Amino acid sequence: MNSFEAKMKILIDLQDCDTRIREVQRKIEEGPIRIRALKDGLRDVAEEEREGADQLEAIKRKRRQLEQDIDDFETRIEKSKIKLSNIKSNKEYQAALKEIDELGAQKSLSEDRVLELMEEIERLEKRSVILREKRVAMEKEADLEEKKIEKEMEVFQNTLDELEREREHYCQAIDRDLLEKYNFLMKHKGGFAVSPVVRGVCQSCHMGIPPQKFNELKRCDMLMTCPHCSRIIYWGENERFRFVAAESNAGMSE
Ligand SMILES: [Zn+2]
Repeated sequence: MNSFEAKMKILIDLQDCDTRIREVQRKIEEGPIRIRALKDGLRDVAEEEREGADQLEAIKRKRRQLEQDIDDFETRIEKSKIKLSNIKSNKEYQAALKEIDELGAQKSLSEDRVLELMEEIERLEKRSVILREKRVAMEKEADLEEKKIEKEMEVFQNTLDELEREREHYCQAIDRDLLEKYNFLMKHKGGFAVSPVVRGVCQSCHMGIPPQKFNELKRCDMLMTCPHCSRIIYWGENERFRFVAAESNAGMSE
């Protein structure tokens, strides 16, 4: 490996390190989002439970009202029956009988409605038990999941600290001018400053390098950039760089 290749190797390693830093940072950013999603899920199920309880309460109120109505009908029917015994004319007697029948019919309708409501209450009470169990189970699960996420975040943070130390080590080994160029390209070229050229094609912008330039690149003795995307390029088929890439890829999967 000549001295230029050694320089390029550090640059490739630095880019690989930066790629891993971005991945870990993304995972760290996902932590609070994952925790928020858990809390949203919990809030939804608690809301559903509360709505169910409100609905149940409203139906129970309605039932109490109907039972009150039934009592009132009974009182009125009793009164009408007493009145009936004091009536002298046949016409008045018929009218009072009709009133008793009507009150009886209304009372009966209310009783039917109460039965319907009792079925509804039973259904809603069962549902409320299910929803409560669901919420309690979800709370337990979310609690465990949150702890798990927090632990993962701790590991990611440690990895990030390590990678940043690694990055610092590469930066110190690179000439200031080259490092500035690298950082500038990283910032303006979507986080990829260094690109391999394979079979004459830049692997970042997928454009061909002129044959003359590609031949110069194969000599691996000077800094070159892609004429299309301006990234720093290196000969990707160079066995020594491929070894570097394979080594750093192995590092990534650890
Ligand atoms: Zn390019």
